[in-house]
Amino acid sequence: MIDFKLEPQTAERARLYHAVAEQMMRPISREYDEREHEKPWDFLKAVWAATHQTEPRVGAGAERSGPKLRNLYTIITAEELCWGDAGLFIAIPTAGLGGAAIMAAGTAEQKRRFLKPFDGGEPKWGAMAITEPGCGSDSAAIATTAVRDGDNWVLNGTKIFCTSGQMALECSEGFVVVWATVDKSAGRAGIKPFVVPRNTPGVTVSRLEKKLGIRVSDTAQIVLDNCRVPLDHILGSPEVEVEHGFKDVMATFDATRPIVAAMAIGVGRAALDFVRDFFKEQNIPIRYGTSPRRLTAIERDFMEMETQLQAARLLAWRAAWMLDMGQRNSLEASMAKAKAGLAVTQISQKAVELLGPLGYSRKLLLEKWMRDAKINDIFEGTQQINLLIVARRILGYSSRELN
Ligand SMILES: Cc1cc2nc3c(=O)[nH]c(=O)nc-3n(C[C@H](O)[C@H](O)[C@H](O)COP(=O)(O)OP(=O)(O)OC[C@H]3O[C@@H](n4cnc5c(N)ncnc54)[C@H](O)[C@@H]3O)c2cc1C
Repeated sequence: MIDFKLEPQTAERARLYHAVAEQMMRPISREYDEREHEKPWDFLKAVWAATHQTEPRVGAGAERSGPKLRNLYTIITAEELCWGDAGLFIAIPTAGLGGAAIMAAGTAEQKRRFLKPFDGGEPKWGAMAITEPGCGSDSAAIATTAVRDGDNWVLNGTKIFCTSGQMALECSEGFVVVWATVDKSAGRAGIKPFVVPRNTPGVTVSRLEKKLGIRVSDTAQIVLDNCRVPLDHILGSPEVEVEHGFKDVMATFDATRPIVAAMAIGVGRAALDFVRDFFKEQNIPIRYGTSPRRLTAIERDFMEMETQLQAARLLAWRAAWMLDMGQRNSLEASMAKAKAGLAVTQISQKAVELLGPLGYSRKLLLEKWMRDAKINDIFEGTQQINLLIVARRILGYSSRELN
């Protein structure tokens, strides 16, 4: 028997985060979209203070251990807060993707050392830098190098599109996890993650991207110029293990893709809820249970949007639940991410369309949700790349055989 009901405690927390989304995020949503890159400090400090009195922390990144159903809880929280505002959610101080990489690839000692500062004090950010000017979907093409020199690793290269990169390198005790190759000839197996703390000589933010959506979140270009970190800042083993290949990158994505799926679902639900309320106000009925032949085009569209959202949510919940159960979830994480990214772009566009010029106007948040939606189809692996992973896993092909 499958039970889709949330535990009472989880449902209660979802209600609490929904209230945060409604009362603290929605009122400042438009303002910080327009003031791109500026930080809503009152909100960020309030969320930091509140989440450091409760467990688990908001958006801290899915984990493979800890309380039962912790990952499921994280994605339910992400959906609620992204219903409020996806950009603000991404800007919330957490160890972020960098934290997820440490959880996936670090030793127990490294997890304690690098993540302990995130337990309190001032707001802090972590970030993760894989993407480069010549490398995005094909992460194996990473050109940033890490060369051992005495007691240090010396990093050189340029990273682009690093979420919260600026905040991570400016706040006290922030860090960026930088993926670099220790042995180019070993291909994917030579790529390793390194923790680069703020204030490390040789690491600088050289640019902030201006973006279509999630504009309050900073997206940084980072230059590593003879940037030296101690030997024990490489996460996990420094050995190049050809048979394990890219397992640390994949393990990081297995944990973060369900969260991105949930973020997409939050934005899609915001659009859907708005349209539902609008129809109610306008006395436009949605007649559930009516024969499909008798439905209006609007009713069909609306029901299709609801169906797509629910399908995406169930896939995301399954992927997170599998992680909580300690099961391998690469296939399910990619399925959820691909489905949710596509669903939210379609739902948010249709919502704008259904409201006509009003949907396109900046009077409402619908046009913003349409802009915020698209990123879920791009970062953490584009839709095409996630579909490729799904196909490989189902058909039993390697990345060399199907690319
Ligand atoms: C706002 C934002 C935040 C980001 N945050 C981070 C971050 O924090 N850290 C980080 O490291 N990166 C981050 N990224 C980068 C993001 O992960 C990459 O943009 C993404 O992986 C795609 O890589 P690319 O840009 O090089 O595109 P490309 O790989 O050049 O892809 C271009 C197009 O070709 C398609 N394509 C590529 N290969 C294939 C294939 N084999 N089959 C079919 N289609 C294919 C892609 O799907 C895409 O549509 C961020 C990006 C954005 C926009």
